[in-house]
Amino acid sequence: AALANQIAAGEVVVRPASCVKELIENSLDAGARAIQVHLREGGIAEIVVIDDGQGMDEQDAALAFRRHATSKVYEPRDLVRIRTLGFRGEALASIAAVARVRLTTRAVGAETAVRVAVDGGEMGPLEKVGAPVGTRIEVRDLFYNTPARLKYLRTVQTEQARSVEVVQQAALSRADVAFSCQTEHHVLFQTPGNGDVRAVLAALYGVGEAKQMLDVHAASNDYRVYGVIGRPTQARSSRGYAHLFVNGRPIRHPGIHQAVVQGYQNRLMVGKHPMYALYIEMDPSLVDVNVHPHKAEVRFSEEPDVTRLVSQAVATALDGTLL
Ligand code: ADP
Ligand code: MG
Repeated sequence: AALANQIAAGEVVVRPASCVKELIENSLDAGARAIQVHLREGGIAEIVVIDDGQGMDEQDAALAFRRHATSKVYEPRDLVRIRTLGFRGEALASIAAVARVRLTTRAVGAETAVRVAVDGGEMGPLEKVGAPVGTRIEVRDLFYNTPARLKYLRTVQTEQARSVEVVQQAALSRADVAFSCQTEHHVLFQTPGNGDVRAVLAALYGVGEAKQMLDVHAASNDYRVYGVIGRPTQARSSRGYAHLFVNGRPIRHPGIHQAVVQGYQNRLMVGKHPMYALYIEMDPSLVDVNVHPHKAEVRFSEEPDVTRLVSQAVATALDGTLL
């Protein structure tokens, strides 16, 4: 089982950022209102995720690291229409197979918390400890027992940037949840969790970073597009300030990104790149999110319709304004 878990881990956990992503998704699935992420050495030495979600009782905590253990029950068709974030029941087992993990969790209504350590897939005893309601997961020494994988990691700086990007995307996808992200040296950002996307962008990039963030919204029968677009005061790469979500998931889509940039540049006639956070909502059957588990690329069945609506939405938002 240990080897099977290590192999499975290769699919789920390729770097600290993928670990951070899975842990945050679990916290969101648990209904957390506040999520803290701590990174040491870019997440290679340690990732800690603390949430105030519903927590796990003793039984759930004992099962959480088993492969295909999931408390989330699905109909087969849910696998093609994924709405919740976790659905495979393998993230924790995979992470615990390639790191030293400590879980401390207290369920709503429970008198105490439980703590359990899993080291390279081997689970230690369950202890009762004092802790607030919610879950704290500490992941240390990622890939300590799989040197081949450790070798694939980039520099601390690169791994940290990728991990932080995951937290940023999560914070933007859930402006109603308060996120904080810190390293061993600084607090990188803290979002208020008040539902305001502008407030999240201000927390990520600095309050004065965008001039005049404009509301974007448009809808057709099948799609709804909303969000904000603005002009960054500092130059960044084209992707630097671009955030796109489909049904709540952060995605990359060069065609849609291009449509946004084009709409913005047509209106302003400058070579600048916009800062934006755009959210597209659609029937999940019109989008394939399973193109690749990590790249977060999607395929739309009616791509031209989506692109056209996004272009229109951006054009309308910018119409008559002088950014
Ligand atoms: P999945 O999310 O696909 O169910 P995971 O391996 O990510 O599988 O998690 C296994 C189980 O552990 C979850 O189904 C859930 O019951 C529990 N769990 C994991 N993280 C948390 C958390 N932060 N809060 C509450 N329960 C959690
Ligand atoms: Mg999960």
